[in-house]
Amino acid sequence: MFEGVTMVDEIVTCVMLLITGIAILVMIHVWIVERAFREQNGVGSGIALQRRTVSIDVIKKLPCFDYKGEVNEESQSNLDCAVCLEIFKEGDKCRLLPNCNHIFHCQCIDSWLSKTASCPICRRTLEISVCSVCEAGAQMA
Ligand SMILES: [Zn+2]
Ligand SMILES: [Zn+2]
Repeated sequence: MFEGVTMVDEIVTCVMLLITGIAILVMIHVWIVERAFREQNGVGSGIALQRRTVSIDVIKKLPCFDYKGEVNEESQSNLDCAVCLEIFKEGDKCRLLPNCNHIFHCQCIDSWLSKTASCPICRRTLEISVCSVCEAGAQMA
């Protein structure tokens, strides 16, 4: 009888220890998951900020011209738009990327730049020096 009580006691102690152990593990797990979630959120917003795109305001400031059937020497090989693959026709609204002198249709490069801030041909990152204060002011107006 005495032995039996001891065994029950031991079993209860074991179960209690097991439950305590599981509870601690669950708490640690929740803590880790919560921390990872917070970190992920932080990193996620960081990436969103760093993702390079070009705002409409900046795109509109790029040089725009009507295609006249003639291109200057350095961009002579570039007679078709790399975005839509159509050959430039006279009177087409075109834009010239200031970094690499590559030419595209206005609407083509505008939609491209709103997704990726680099040239579709040479992949050079588009770097336009825009005063952050002025840009903010322009958006406010
Ligand atoms: Zn095009
Ligand atoms: Zn280019």
